[in-house]
Amino acid sequence: NAKRLGKNSFSFYSSKLKKEAVEYTQMVTSLKQAIKNSELELYFQPQNEAESGKIVGVEALLRWKHKDKMISPDVFIPLAERSGLIVEIGDFVLRSAFKTVKKWHEMGILWGRVAINMSARQLTHLNLINTLKNMLKESGCEASWIELEITESSVLENPELVISLLEELRGIGFYISMDDFGTGYSSLSYLKNLPINKLKIDRSFIMNIRDEPKNQIIVKTVIFLAKELGIHILAEGVETEEERSFLLLNKIDSIQGYYYAKPMPMKDMEKLLQE
Ligand code: C2E
Ligand code: MG
Ligand code: MG
Ligand code: MG
Repeated sequence: NAKRLGKNSFSFYSSKLKKEAVEYTQMVTSLKQAIKNSELELYFQPQNEAESGKIVGVEALLRWKHKDKMISPDVFIPLAERSGLIVEIGDFVLRSAFKTVKKWHEMGILWGRVAINMSARQLTHLNLINTLKNMLKESGCEASWIELEITESSVLENPELVISLLEELRGIGFYISMDDFGTGYSSLSYLKNLPINKLKIDRSFIMNIRDEPKNQIIVKTVIFLAKELGIHILAEGVETEEERSFLLLNKIDSIQGYYYAKPMPMKDMEKLLQE
């Protein structure tokens, strides 16, 4: 704490800030390199129908392989957002995901859609609609094969803009889902006004559900709410049979989590889809 450190505290904090600023700049530089050097790669995780276990969708999750280390998107996506690199990275993700979707459709192995995470800045970027339309044309994909995942925080920044964007995206034929539901600051009026097809209940409500009666109530209620509103409902981060059976009992539509599979490279997902 600053007081106890007395007059040295200022230099202590300023050198810490300086160190952080240097680290930030270095990370941004290596992230720029990463895009050029093809260090970014999409992994895929299945989404399974709760009752049958059948794969009904796949989420694309970005990986950064940097000097034999895997850097988590939880680390570099916020960095990419802050530095503006997210638009370039987002374009890479879209192009790469569309290419894979097209391939899987041609192979006849994909049931359901491939979901792509969209960050706030990417969503409100001026060119988004045109970029997506061009990518559909270039890749030969149909919009209905693609699911776009947004978060509550993207909506919070500019609800009117986001609502009209989502309406336009749905008009093109994209399927829209709300990721990490329950962790942002969304109000119930968003559920009423947002044109979304699917809710993904955040993992934090599923973890240790057996020992958390409040989470049980929240999850049950969210499932009920989604069903009544005609919105598809998925639970994220399902790891155990116990979690799965609780969700199944409460009529969840689908499940994503280590219980079925961890995110995996494209070729492994392809094999899994072929089985
Ligand atoms: P998300 O979209 O909510 O993705 C789900 C995260 O939960 C993934 O982490 C996934 O690996 C992890 N997960 C899935 N099932 C389980 C489970 O059963 N247990 C546990 N402990 N974890 C599970 P990941 O791949 O590290 O991604 C983290 C976040 O980074 C994503 O959260 C998403 O918000 C963001 N992200 C990933 N790829 C992209 C991308 O291409 N673009 C953007 N804008 N964001 C991305
Ligand atoms: Mg997601
Ligand atoms: Mg999520
Ligand atoms: Mg998440």
